[in-house]
Amino acid sequence: MRSVDKNLLSHARSLSPLSDKEAYLFDGPGCPTIEELCAAASQLRDLGKGRTVTFSPKVFIPLTHLCRDFCGYCTFRQSPETAARLYMTPEEVLNVATAGQRLGCTEALFTLGERPEQRYPEAKQWLRNRGFATTLEYLAYVCQLVMDETNMLPHANPGTMSRRELAALQPFNPSMGLMLESTSARLYQAGGPHEFAPSKRPRVRLRTMELAGELGIPFTTGILIGIGESRSERIEAILAIRDLHRAYGHIQEVIIQNFRAKPATPMADAVDATSHELLWTVAVARILLGPDVNLQVPPNLSSDDYEEYLAAGINDWGGVSPLTIDFVNPEAPWPALADLQRRTAEQGLTLKPRLPVYPEYFVNTRAWLSDSLQEKAIALTDAEGYVKGGMERYAGRN
Ligand code: SF4
Repeated sequence: MRSVDKNLLSHARSLSPLSDKEAYLFDGPGCPTIEELCAAASQLRDLGKGRTVTFSPKVFIPLTHLCRDFCGYCTFRQSPETAARLYMTPEEVLNVATAGQRLGCTEALFTLGERPEQRYPEAKQWLRNRGFATTLEYLAYVCQLVMDETNMLPHANPGTMSRRELAALQPFNPSMGLMLESTSARLYQAGGPHEFAPSKRPRVRLRTMELAGELGIPFTTGILIGIGESRSERIEAILAIRDLHRAYGHIQEVIIQNFRAKPATPMADAVDATSHELLWTVAVARILLGPDVNLQVPPNLSSDDYEEYLAAGINDWGGVSPLTIDFVNPEAPWPALADLQRRTAEQGLTLKPRLPVYPEYFVNTRAWLSDSLQEKAIALTDAEGYVKGGMERYAGRN
């Protein structure tokens, strides 16, 4: 190992954060090998998270597939001409949430397109007929319904948000999310995957994350790898997330998601992100973000390589549903929980269910959640903040 490698990793292991300048050395001639990166990353994970790996038992509620934007890799978005319905009704939302509750789920994940009423008059009219001016107003209404009428906790993931919109959702969402995806300006230039997606401008997304921090909202974000960004640009995005977390302490988890090409999209012929690139990014993210941040790889997009990602320092598998498909990646089925538990255990790690908000935001602290969210979170969990009943809740269900 060359001296720069030794210095970088021993510095990271010493728990004193690497500087931005040092961080970029991971994309250079002095970069440690993948084995060395993983060894340092898993050691940091163990220091901060012990040998527990979590997942969130959830239902996926695609409130609307309509979207004002066009991303080059997306099969989620639909137009009024192709969508089976413009929006899910409140009754449909509650039906999915209560069905998930019966199966032991605790998260109602709301994922939807970006501000469709700004592009489609049909969407605007649908909302207006029901007394809502915007999709985000309607989202707040159905989140409150789920809070009031089920034992599930909403987690809204509706795209970019203003301070007012975040504040309106906050009483009914113990956490919210927005993937940063990338900080690369190249991706929204001509021919890039975000050319026709103004909401994917990094500045706009970082501003939403910053506002969430100012409001004290536990927040999920992450990066999408393999859409044309470089390794250095990935480091830049991870550092941007690190800076926001340092400022506000609200980044409750960071997802490292791999791009998969989908038919009938502008990027149908693009090459999928390789598992080697995903592994490198996960390990570097753990080293740069430190031992305490929750780091996730979605298990349905990497089913061949669970063991390697665990060895690269993740401590979470994200949302897994016994009921609904992954509407963003419909071709990728969720793992059976028994299989995920077994393969996690084979690496000497223990799988536990968690809420959409991580324990550090409600166990022994009242600094983050409203009284009603706090009470519900405590009622659903054990003394450590994991879902009551543990993996036994799901025994025999998959
Ligand atoms: S990825 Fe999101 S913002 Fe982009 S087109 Fe699809 S739904 Fe819209």
